Amino acid sequence: MKSIHKEIYYALPTVMKNLAVSSSLLVQRKTRYGKFYNQYLKFYSQNLSKSKDELDVIQLSTLKNILLEVSDNTEYFNGIFNNKGITKELINSASSVTELISKLPIFQKDFLKKYKQEIDNLSRRRTYLSSTSGTTGTPNVISYDDESLQIGFALLRRFYDTIGLPKEFKSVRLSGKIVVLPSKNKPPFWIHNYSSKQLFMSVYHLTEKNIKAYIKKFNEYKPQLIDGYPSAIFVIAQYINKHKIKLQFKPIAIATTAETLYGCYKAEIEKAFGCKVYNQYSSSEGGPFIAECTHGKLHLQTDSGIFEFINALGKPAIAGEFAELVVTSFRQWKTPLIRYSTGDWVKISDKSFTYQSCDCGCNMPVIDEIIGREDDILFTLEKGHVGRLDPAYKGLIGIKKSKIIQHQIDFIEVVNIVDENYSEKVEHRLLKNLRDRLGEKINIEIKIVNEIPLGASGKFKAVERKFNLS
Ligand SMILES: [Zn+2]
Repeated sequence: MKSIHKEIYYALPTVMKNLAVSSSLLVQRKTRYGKFYNQYLKFYSQNLSKSKDELDVIQLSTLKNILLEVSDNTEYFNGIFNNKGITKELINSASSVTELISKLPIFQKDFLKKYKQEIDNLSRRRTYLSSTSGTTGTPNVISYDDESLQIGFALLRRFYDTIGLPKEFKSVRLSGKIVVLPSKNKPPFWIHNYSSKQLFMSVYHLTEKNIKAYIKKFNEYKPQLIDGYPSAIFVIAQYINKHKIKLQFKPIAIATTAETLYGCYKAEIEKAFGCKVYNQYSSSEGGPFIAECTHGKLHLQTDSGIFEFINALGKPAIAGEFAELVVTSFRQWKTPLIRYSTGDWVKISDKSFTYQSCDCGCNMPVIDEIIGREDDILFTLEKGHVGRLDPAYKGLIGIKKSKIIQHQIDFIEVVNIVDENYSEKVEHRLLKNLRDRLGEKINIEIKIVNEIPLGASGKFKAVERKFNLS
């Protein structure tokens, strides 16, 4: 929203706000669910039961199609392909994805902004613009054509099908969308989108005082799906569990995205809402999908793109390493993402490289963990890279919210918001648990605070490294 529109929107009474949001989203709905959506949903649904070989064939042919199209219609890739001697004949005759893709350079994250005009696929009409939040620097605006936009919604619908959601359902979304004035101190802290039976709830008003009103609204609205930031859903779940509140509804599923889903978040949310939590990932620029199946596996959806893993030294990662995801997207044809460094990190294991079938019936490869941004990984001289630290909190009571900040290679600060159950004993156990993972030599300082501010787009970073690793 432009700032003048924002001002008008905030000044509207709630009923009018609901109508304003619903009508603008009704227009968007028409561009999301058109002929391409139906066509792709059918195609994607069939792929879930395809064999590895069949999926490999789809991946190679889609890669060829996208490379041929960008070579003809984008100034930037045309130049790169000419430079590298990548001709149409070479693309057409390639017999494997690795053979073809390895001929191209890896593009760093900033290239999207730098070459905005030059990478634009001129053969496709821009029908939608999406702003990415950009945790660092200014937000970026990404162009989509109808087909690219609808492919994304078809992939999302396939995910919903796999987790058992009906064709139409009521949902609550907790994400960075600013739906009510940040200074508002009385409910409603939400806005209805009647066009999609959706309720947008603010993540900026989840204070102890307000959570009761959120829960009351949940009970009235009875969503079948809750989706959005895991940190926000966790705060509500923790309150429900602590006060032993019995909800008057049970969602079919909870789907989290855009932030790291820690094991402790997942357990607390599943306990509170009595349903399963599924993790879903896709970079905001229109990257391929990673989605959790009903058997708890994170599948790389290889019909939506190609995933490569690059370690901290810029080399192809091996099992057990942390790696940056480099993607080639089959769902973004207007702003092509080819060997694009997402800035998102994952932990890989043997399972990511060797083929293993999953009991859910899907033959797409799986990955161990999605970590988040590069600065979500700490580094100490004793232990090297240290990813998920949530196990350090296991079984500890009295800590409502916590953040681990590494200021320097030898100094870590932990800030906790606590309740009456917190004690010195808990603090000692936390310190010991952290030492087990971060080493004996590092200086760890634990502090109690009243507030931990949210970061960009209302996201909460539970772990943050404040310096660059060289
Ligand atoms: Zn599976």
